[in-house]
Amino acid sequence: MKRSVLAVLLTLALLLCGGCAAEETAGKTFVTSFYPMYVFTLNVTKDVPGVRVVNMAGESTGCLHDYQLQTRDMVTLEGADALIINGGGMEQFMDKVIAQQPDLPVIDAGSGIDMLCSEDGHDHEHGEHDHDHGVYNAHVWLDPALAIQQVQNIAEGLAAVDSENAEAYRQNAADYTARIQALDAELSAQLAPLVGSAIVTFHEAFTYFADAYGLVVVGVIANDAGEEPSTRQIASTCDLVKGLGVQALFVEPQYPTKSAETIARETGAGVYTLDPVVSGDGSLESYENVMRENARVLTEALEP
Ligand SMILES: [Zn+2]
Repeated sequence: MKRSVLAVLLTLALLLCGGCAAEETAGKTFVTSFYPMYVFTLNVTKDVPGVRVVNMAGESTGCLHDYQLQTRDMVTLEGADALIINGGGMEQFMDKVIAQQPDLPVIDAGSGIDMLCSEDGHDHEHGEHDHDHGVYNAHVWLDPALAIQQVQNIAEGLAAVDSENAEAYRQNAADYTARIQALDAELSAQLAPLVGSAIVTFHEAFTYFADAYGLVVVGVIANDAGEEPSTRQIASTCDLVKGLGVQALFVEPQYPTKSAETIARETGAGVYTLDPVVSGDGSLESYENVMRENARVLTEALEP
């Protein structure tokens, strides 16, 4: 009698365990490092059954400069089937991730993209042993042509990790690429009258965007996105704005606007907001919507 109870219990336990295992293997969890990778991956995995996309960095994080990996991030990564990163040094915590999760597939969306050197003044002072700041300007997602490359890289990476759904990822990437191409054409037409305009942005996020549409970033307010600029830096930006007759300063919703307001008071330049798409409403169209809004703001700020 005792034996048969044990047997029933064992069978039950096996059944329950089997159930858990089946549920776990049925789905895939893909973790993205921050918001632009999240939106791109949402589009690439759209309507693929059993796929969950989790964004690691919180809504208020913005760019990942100086981001410190949290304990809860390591917990998130433990259950992941892949981690999707922007690359180019944006995720400066990758050494730690690789050390703790050596088997986690990492999809580098920036792979194969020629990145510009960072204008961040800190990089060149500390030499090659400085790991606090990226060497590259990694904000490539703000050029739609490079965003498409990132989307393609994500699709190929996911296809390798989850071959069963490879075709769905590739088809979704093709559909999304067509949408981004349409966005790019629309922005090119809209921003054409502004070609050659000089702008000052909050940090070096808009270099690739500016290159794509013929705008010229003549200066940034903060060399380091996480730090308030010094009085000396603010003074030199004021000189630059006055010297070049810059009409508009662009702040970012994720960062403080105080220094820009100071510069605006000193120089008479206007203050406007450009969003580097590092936070948003989590909708599939989020990237396109924010880029369109940026183009609208630029037109408002710079049209003669
Ligand atoms: Zn940034």
